[in-house]
Amino acid sequence: MKFINLTRHTEIGANSYYLETGGHRLVLDCGMHPKFQGEEALPNMNAIAGRQLDAIIISHSHQDHIGTLPVLMRRQPKARVFMTEPTTDIGSALLHNSVNVMTRQREESGMTMYPLFTHREIDRASERWRSCALRQTYTLAGERVPTDSSDTTFEFIDAGHVLGSTGILLRSDGRTIFYTGDVNFDDQTIAQAAVFPEKDVEILIMECTRGDTPVSPTWSRASEEKRFMQAIENAFTRGGCVLVPVFALGKTQEVLAMLYKLRREKILDFPIYIGGLSSRISEIYDRRALMGRRQLPRLQLLDELRPYVLNAETIHDAQTRPGRVYALSSGMMTPKTLSNIFAQRVVDQPRHSIFFVGYADPESPAGILRNASPNEEVTIDPNHAPQRLRCQMQQFQFSAHASRESLIAFAERLAPKKILLVHGDPLAVEWMRARLASDLPNSEIIVPPPGVELEL
Ligand SMILES: [Zn+2]
Ligand SMILES: [Zn+2]
Repeated sequence: MKFINLTRHTEIGANSYYLETGGHRLVLDCGMHPKFQGEEALPNMNAIAGRQLDAIIISHSHQDHIGTLPVLMRRQPKARVFMTEPTTDIGSALLHNSVNVMTRQREESGMTMYPLFTHREIDRASERWRSCALRQTYTLAGERVPTDSSDTTFEFIDAGHVLGSTGILLRSDGRTIFYTGDVNFDDQTIAQAAVFPEKDVEILIMECTRGDTPVSPTWSRASEEKRFMQAIENAFTRGGCVLVPVFALGKTQEVLAMLYKLRREKILDFPIYIGGLSSRISEIYDRRALMGRRQLPRLQLLDELRPYVLNAETIHDAQTRPGRVYALSSGMMTPKTLSNIFAQRVVDQPRHSIFFVGYADPESPAGILRNASPNEEVTIDPNHAPQRLRCQMQQFQFSAHASRESLIAFAERLAPKKILLVHGDPLAVEWMRARLASDLPNSEIIVPPPGVELEL
């Protein structure tokens, strides 16, 4: 079996992995780098040039897993493409939004290769997407077969990360390979914890997002929700507004569900603002609320919370109104996104607050802000002057990713022959590697070097 890490560095970037097994060639995920532009935003597709793929299997519809799928499909016109049904809905909304973002980037910074694909290309590409049910076994030709089929097969398993997210179980030549995708082993406010296989996995490809973040032993989601609610109340008492940078998919809906609980329990009621893409994805959450596993299945986010919707035009006139929560994407506050533009009105105002609720790359504007000291000069958009950091800032732990402790416990239960560590910053991956190497001396722990073909 051959494996190539198509992600360009050891990082959470344009995630993508090539596998060759049982006479088949396939790619797991095809993301877009959240920070880089142009060629660097794509997975390293040159590493598989000349190899014709049978299948592309997508774990979930976050940008770093699906963001450049139309480019790979253009280069691999014969490959079949598989994902869950919610991922087809969300993926299409997200990619169309991405065309608009890339078109603006072309206008603003002269990126001539942008957009990397067009609206029409997404429409045509998505007709080739085949949606698969959870916990069913499929061949790479898309036929449903019994689990013990002698073909190379795959199965999607709920990963508890965001709507439609999965781990991918591959069976080929008598071997079992399991790719976690992005996973959460804890319940969130909407998403229910992953139900992953507990045995019979020979090769595990595992995400490491939180590998360098220990969890406080006293942490619980319920107590964190209380702390979040209290912090909002305090922020409003100071006469300010609260900006919560969120991913459009997952974190927005989780935050809305938390704010719904505040209203339901009559603790606090206030206007909420979200972005256009977040609103479209929340619509998909609402439409699919009664299908599949989730908490609060009767909660219709948009009907219940009636959020105001801001877009790329209206954000420029949006005021920082006191007593309001602005849950805006992007989560990393990438320049030119709603959360970044809005933050520039918040950062130097002591009465306003920014609450961080999830992962941010340390070099992203959200990461820079989080690590800055009060009154320090910060630059969150290189095209604008630095600002003095005077707003209130607080960090909450509502990550959609598994804690490193739960990833280690999962790997130890499975005790696979080989573990490949992916989807993590170098420090995170190294912590996981060292810990697994000492806890599982009979397993081979591999950090797959980018672009290098490994024989597994
Ligand atoms: Zn994800
Ligand atoms: Zn990811």
